Amino acid sequence: MKRLHVLSVASEVYPLVKTGGLADVVAALPPALAREGIATRTLVPGYPAVVAGLRNAEAVHHFAHLHGGPARLLAAHAAGLDLLVLDAPHLYARPGNPYLGPDGDAWPDNALRFAALAGCAASIARGTVAGFAPDIVHAHDWQAALAPALLHYGGTPRPGTVMTVHNLSFQGLFPPTLLEAVGLPPHAYAIDGVEYHGTIGYLKAGLALADRITTVSPTYAAEIRTPEGGMGLDGLLRQRADVLTGIVNGIDESVWDPAGDAHLASRFDARHLARRAANKAALQARIGLDVEPGAFVFGVVSRLTLQKGMDLLHDALPAITATGAQLALLGSGEPAFERAFAAAVKRHPGRVAAVIGYDEPLAHLLQGGADALLVPSRFEPCGLTQLYALRYGAIPVVARVGGLADTVIDASEMALAAGAGTGIQFAPVTRENLEFAIGRALALWRDRTVWRRLQRRAMAADVGWTRPAKRYAALFRELAAVRAAPAPSS
Ligand code: ADP
Repeated sequence: MKRLHVLSVASEVYPLVKTGGLADVVAALPPALAREGIATRTLVPGYPAVVAGLRNAEAVHHFAHLHGGPARLLAAHAAGLDLLVLDAPHLYARPGNPYLGPDGDAWPDNALRFAALAGCAASIARGTVAGFAPDIVHAHDWQAALAPALLHYGGTPRPGTVMTVHNLSFQGLFPPTLLEAVGLPPHAYAIDGVEYHGTIGYLKAGLALADRITTVSPTYAAEIRTPEGGMGLDGLLRQRADVLTGIVNGIDESVWDPAGDAHLASRFDARHLARRAANKAALQARIGLDVEPGAFVFGVVSRLTLQKGMDLLHDALPAITATGAQLALLGSGEPAFERAFAAAVKRHPGRVAAVIGYDEPLAHLLQGGADALLVPSRFEPCGLTQLYALRYGAIPVVARVGGLADTVIDASEMALAAGAGTGIQFAPVTRENLEFAIGRALALWRDRTVWRRLQRRAMAADVGWTRPAKRYAALFRELAAVRAAPAPSS
């Protein structure tokens, strides 16, 4: 089989820059695709943390003027990836969050910052980097979504384009006056182009003009075609349903491996679940809970936002503590939620604990020490934390939406009788149903034999990248074959 070449374009890549699951996927997919005979180069912006993470970088192209300044394209191997880094200090050499300034607002020039990323991708697709001719340009989320549009309007020949949506709620909307500045022709500003309710919609552009669309679970792929889940783009997504598929994310099983995890107090596997007790004790001590071996610990690792149902969780705290259970929360996000959970810790000392911030080692310990992981999201394109939870035997208690619905099997009585079930689902997403689900988890836990079986099944769930990578590979090959065929298409 011909070796296929993919240019993956994204604004985050683990471990160099990460604000969410997108970074994990961008980092984990290329090695999994390599096993399917597909070579990937990954283009990311040269944020300070990215440039600092490069060794032996080689400048493979110079842009004299790129949206207000000169820029270089650096090629380097880092984090096991074949990276192309757009080093444009006037756009990216800013500390902190990749999208937000120090006041928490979006950078005012985000339209240009990510037009530069997409423009660079389009120029690589057309041969800027000697010896590299991608068959597929794979754009992730709104920050990369102008790439399919620029390639569409740039004429043929061009590679196939795939737009992957990790979260439809981030759309990248900018004033139409920027049309020329971001490299689009006047006729692109149309309903079947980049125009979206009087703005240039970056994500809309990618969804309208990419050859194929994927999102990160089959249920989310269905939800985004409905008015309730479509965030205004459902009409377009219904029109394009024939090229839209959902592929569940995997996790990096070498980073998230309870048997080899250096962040745990005690490593374990499905045959040695008793070793989790040491992790529970370490978690309780580390996070400020009473060190009580007999207390059930619910864990949360989440952005603190409405999407993640953090208001419902907060309202459910009295019910959780009333059962004698504890809650260990790790998260950061909206200041109002950060304050609310900090206050809850004061109201329930030793029973509710919260670390407000981003802490990768603690996220691992939490998965290895909590008895269950709560994920009460209002919508969840795929979700990664429940996949880590499955692998670590922290039973996921999840809202039945998006990827949560696709990856957790509810331990109903029928499922248990049939030897199935890996967690607990609840719907619709309300505080009452969350509390009911919490009660179900505790009831199952009271029978340790049932609970152990549940944990073993959870830990045996297939959460790796092999299966998803095969599906991406099949999609890329199909698209490359269509584009190579001598049919008249754009
Ligand atoms: P999203 O991308 O919507 O935030 P996901 O569940 O897909 O949600 O991915 C979240 C990722 O970020 C996971 O890898 C999770 O472990 C990590 N994460 C979220 N919050 C924190 C935090 N406060 N500290 C450490 N890791 C976190």
